[in-house]
Amino acid sequence: MPANSVRALGALGLEAELRDRGRVIARQRFLDERGRLLLEIDLPGFWGEAGPCVALGHRELHEVLREGIDVRLATTVVDLRQRGGPVHADFVDGSGEDYDAVVGADGLRSWVRAHAFGGGEPHFVGQASWRLLVDGFADVTSWTVWLGRGRAFLVIPLDGGRVYCYADIDASETTDPTSGDPAALAELFGRFAEPVPTILAAGLATGGAPYFSPIEEVVHEPWVLDKIVLVGDAAHAMAPNMAEGAGMALEDALVLAETIASGRPLEAFQARRRPRVEFVHAQTRRRDRTRRLPGTVRNASLRFAGRQIFNSSYAPLRTAP
Ligand SMILES: Cc1cc2nc3c(=O)[nH]c(=O)nc-3n(C[C@H](O)[C@H](O)[C@H](O)COP(=O)(O)OP(=O)(O)OC[C@H]3O[C@@H](n4cnc5c(N)ncnc54)[C@H](O)[C@@H]3O)c2cc1C
Repeated sequence: MPANSVRALGALGLEAELRDRGRVIARQRFLDERGRLLLEIDLPGFWGEAGPCVALGHRELHEVLREGIDVRLATTVVDLRQRGGPVHADFVDGSGEDYDAVVGADGLRSWVRAHAFGGGEPHFVGQASWRLLVDGFADVTSWTVWLGRGRAFLVIPLDGGRVYCYADIDASETTDPTSGDPAALAELFGRFAEPVPTILAAGLATGGAPYFSPIEEVVHEPWVLDKIVLVGDAAHAMAPNMAEGAGMALEDALVLAETIASGRPLEAFQARRRPRVEFVHAQTRRRDRTRRLPGTVRNASLRFAGRQIFNSSYAPLRTAP
């Protein structure tokens, strides 16, 4: 979670819990597949007063978010109706209720987006990805990515020697190019510098199957229809190369809360958020294009202009949303 994401949780009074459960990340390192350093970013130096960058698992993030909140699980909405007054929601268990507003925070394949707004299918961006958690690598202390030809391998240290790994390759289809075969996945990154093959082998030997997903984005408007509003991935999912998906969702939630508290119409939420989200979408695509440059050009760009590229991607996010 980059600092703007952590700051959004801080606004809810959750930064201490986040630091307790997660791990503050001080450096981001970009290497080529042979392990040669292309760029290193001092994160506290870059983000300054915006705050720390923190790594933690999705489950731990949910625990932090849910603390003290009554959440109704294992149910879903099956119908939404609005005719000027409150929004009526029907649930799968047969219950129904009226609400002043309904927030569709239901992710990339949002039912609310499809049902209430119509359409807005996710768009495949041409990458296949795998994620896994691996124990026993306490010597990994920085966010580190190795960039190969049409593929990348990222490790992020978590707590107690656990590392989060994210691997991706350029792909033309949304299906798993390894067909779920761990040996085929190991082979894809077998020529990468150590510790990549060792970490991957350890993860494939001890963990469950890596989590495969095609990378998709959502570009959809509007986000507001009378009293129904979309936030986060439901409104604007993006490829993960900036690690800004959760940050954008959290900032959405804060700005939406401020909009409602101030009595302004929900459309004011979209007007305020749209430029920032469009900026992050555009930067995300730009970074993907840089990644796809021929290896020597990409490596030279990162060596000589990496700091400017990083700065233009993230500097505008140092200010509050
Ligand atoms: C490979 C990968 C790596 C990523 N890495 C990062 C990263 O490092 N940092 C970062 O900030 N972001 C990252 N992201 C993006 C991030 O995960 C998302 O942007 C973020 O989770 C969006 O939050 P959200 O609450 O909008 O949606 P989600 O996290 O998808 O949450 C939606 C919730 O809605 C629930 N739901 C869905 N449909 C229904 C329904 N019909 N009824 C009831 N509930 C429903 C789901 O169960 C889920 O709990 C990554 C994404 C990918 C694919």
